[in-house]
Amino acid sequence: MKLINTENACVKELVINWHMTEVCNYSCKYCFAKWGRPNELHRSEQDIIKLLDKLADYFIKGTPTLKKDIGYESVRINFAGGEPMMLGNTFITALMLAKQRGFKTSTITNGHYLISGKLVLPKNSLDMIGISFDSQNLKTRHQIGRTDRKGNSFGSDDLKQALVMLAQSQKGIKTKINTVVNNLNVDENFAELIDELKPNKWKVLHVMPYGDDELLVSKEQFDRFVKRHSGLGLPVFTESNSAMTESYLMINPQGCFYQNKANKVGYEYSENINLCGVEKALSQIEFNPRTFASRYLKESIDIVTI
Ligand code: SF4
Repeated sequence: MKLINTENACVKELVINWHMTEVCNYSCKYCFAKWGRPNELHRSEQDIIKLLDKLADYFIKGTPTLKKDIGYESVRINFAGGEPMMLGNTFITALMLAKQRGFKTSTITNGHYLISGKLVLPKNSLDMIGISFDSQNLKTRHQIGRTDRKGNSFGSDDLKQALVMLAQSQKGIKTKINTVVNNLNVDENFAELIDELKPNKWKVLHVMPYGDDELLVSKEQFDRFVKRHSGLGLPVFTESNSAMTESYLMINPQGCFYQNKANKVGYEYSENINLCGVEKALSQIEFNPRTFASRYLKESIDIVTI
């Protein structure tokens, strides 16, 4: 199913990206998760409970303008980072609390802790997962920075194992693999791997010009990568630079809404949602539900397609 009429936008699922932490065990050169670490909300379980309660009261139980405007039927909290699984039991607690409050749940992870044995996901706690994976080649992953301090790196076999385990413990989970196309993997062929893994979606992203210039690729190079993997029956979804700068509903590690500034570099932030409430916080980022709906529609097309 595809949604195409932006006038009567009907988005089935509203997604709130909560970037729980900036901390990550990897150090990708293109990473833009650099908010500074103090006062991350996850340090207090009470603050997590408060935030999820406020979000549930407003977006699920309440009747905000956004609900009327885009007619969403469910709300998903997407736990992102940094690497959210680095938070261990706090991540699990947040996941379960979100479920209890009626949210759907998803997470974006580098996969490392899925197979390290240190983190056990409770059964059926995740509706969707995005695993970032940039290369089948260990040397390339090291060059990109997809490695921890001990030199460990999540490889193809780990990815296969993780997806098998997730299918067993998370009934009906939707899977997504994210690949950031950059100068070090632009010539790599992922067709066989993706065909074997059969994720619901393989999201191919053009590296953003935030970090290391040596990783940048041109639009032509990115397009060639996409073309090479097209027409093979793979579930390829592309996201260009311009699409990535569109706004989504996002919460930072300190518990504030933030979004791109219109036509400017950088972000604007609300007050802490726990202190001022969802409605006021949304107004502080000049949140416009109609603009959001039309922008959001691009992503919703992906969501309803998987
Ligand atoms: S795995 Fe993700 S959060 Fe961690 S450094 Fe890489 S891009 Fe950043």
